[in-house]
Amino acid sequence: MFCIQCEQTLVNEKYTGCQLRQGKCGKDATTADLQDVLIYMLQGIGQYAHRARQLGAVDVEVDEFVPHAFFTTLTNVNFDASRFVSCIAEAARIRNRAKTLYEQACLKSGERVQALIGPASFVPATDLEGLQAQAEQASIRQDEAGEDVFALRCLNLYGLKGCAAYCEHARVLGKSSEDLFGKFHEFLSFIADKSTSIDDLLGTAMAIGQLNFAIMELLDAGSTESFGHPVPTQVRTSAIKGKSILVSGHDMVDLKHILEQTKGTGINVYTHGELLPAHGYPELKAYEHLAGNYGSAWQNQHKEFAAFPGAIVMTSNCLLDPNKGDYADRIFTAGPVGWPGVAHIENHDYSPVIEAAQQQAGFSANMIDETITVGFARNAVLGVADTVIEAVKAGDIKHFFLIGGCDGADPGRNYFTDFAENTPDDTVILTIGCGKFRFNKKQHGEINGIPRLLDVGQCNDAYSAIRIALALADAFECEVNDLPLTLIVSWFEQKAAAVLLTLLSLGIKNIHLGPTLPAFLSPNVIDVLVEKFDLKPTGDAKQDMAAILNAG
Ligand code: SF4
Ligand code: SF4
Repeated sequence: MFCIQCEQTLVNEKYTGCQLRQGKCGKDATTADLQDVLIYMLQGIGQYAHRARQLGAVDVEVDEFVPHAFFTTLTNVNFDASRFVSCIAEAARIRNRAKTLYEQACLKSGERVQALIGPASFVPATDLEGLQAQAEQASIRQDEAGEDVFALRCLNLYGLKGCAAYCEHARVLGKSSEDLFGKFHEFLSFIADKSTSIDDLLGTAMAIGQLNFAIMELLDAGSTESFGHPVPTQVRTSAIKGKSILVSGHDMVDLKHILEQTKGTGINVYTHGELLPAHGYPELKAYEHLAGNYGSAWQNQHKEFAAFPGAIVMTSNCLLDPNKGDYADRIFTAGPVGWPGVAHIENHDYSPVIEAAQQQAGFSANMIDETITVGFARNAVLGVADTVIEAVKAGDIKHFFLIGGCDGADPGRNYFTDFAENTPDDTVILTIGCGKFRFNKKQHGEINGIPRLLDVGQCNDAYSAIRIALALADAFECEVNDLPLTLIVSWFEQKAAAVLLTLLSLGIKNIHLGPTLPAFLSPNVIDVLVEKFDLKPTGDAKQDMAAILNAG
């Protein structure tokens, strides 16, 4: 195996990525190898589907397969090798479909059929051993093109993976776009071509960032049309007596199905991690048995899930080995998520989860009331834009910090806690992603009635945060880069890579990125990002804060 896609990858004097029998996330070598083969197959699909599209031929089944399959290969999503064996077989079928689509489009238009090489002509083995033997050929590795080309190829691939995740989130909410699917095929085909041009690779990274912005807009429309615009909402963070189900990950469609199916059962439903913002959506908060938020960010799930006295559902992503916390018999996976031996929910039938919850003890008593406030997505914040603008003009708000992104288990993330805790009283913190759990239970106070901490939502809601920044720039008749706003971004996995590319592609500068820079980036590529975008690695929180405020 070889994997370097996330922040906790194994890079030191001896290793250049996770390349032992198991990655640091718990992904075993077999699964990692199968994921490489699947990604290679997706590139082959892209080669045919992109060319077919250039000739006006489109196939919905081909389009929709790609983001879903891609999503399964993100960090902490699917660890089940058997699921990948069948997914590769399905990818072979879909690639044949794309090939036929292309050939028929050529026939119709009179174009000559090109004999495509690389992933397009790769023949996947039909058994596990054979597929493992092919992983070396499929894997992304540094070749004679050198470390800068490798770095940019990784940036493209991992950025596109993040786009795929958001695209799949949008699709389950009923939102998709033929144009955007076409971009996936175009970029996968580009990756398959193994370009060695630094300019083309950098240009594609920016184009992937733009693609992600468009996808996130679609996702935002899907969430708000399905569940309404989030409104400021007090969320209980302490448990109440009774049987319980905990829903983690990001998927609010799964959550809605669970809420519907548990109506009248007496079971309380709690959100975990990135599902916290669900409490702000009118259509979800209307369920009385949506009892509260339990626990914190994904990396704490071993302890938190083990202590939860009910059934657990992991949607979308950020799963850890459930055997370590001894709760594998009462956790269920949904959507792209998988763990060998863990029951997977099909067709939104959550009856096994309800049954498991009934068999567990549940919470024996009400705990002392504790709450936090969520629901400050773009509509809510822009609804008080006049107050915010007045406060800035009067000097009551001196600076905005967007402290957002992923949390993680590796050291160095106290930076984000320290940063948030040391923000002066005349500054406002906007936050997205699960990194917020490091500081969202602390009291941050208010400025002229506006909470100093505004929870904009999931990492999926980066679009909402960008819209807030763009609206403020409009109000002050300046560019986003001229606002008293600094982005402090914590990254862990490939969704964060896609969001970073979006921010860069929008020309947003001076982003402080940590806790470390991606290991797949080479020193030269980092230099380019620093020079072009003024990208800054996080350092010491207090010193960074002072430098930001002094510069402003
Ligand atoms: S996802 Fe991250 S931790 Fe897991 S194998 Fe890949 S680089 Fe290693
Ligand atoms: S912000 Fe990133 S690390 Fe955190 S739960 Fe979402 S995808 Fe996972």
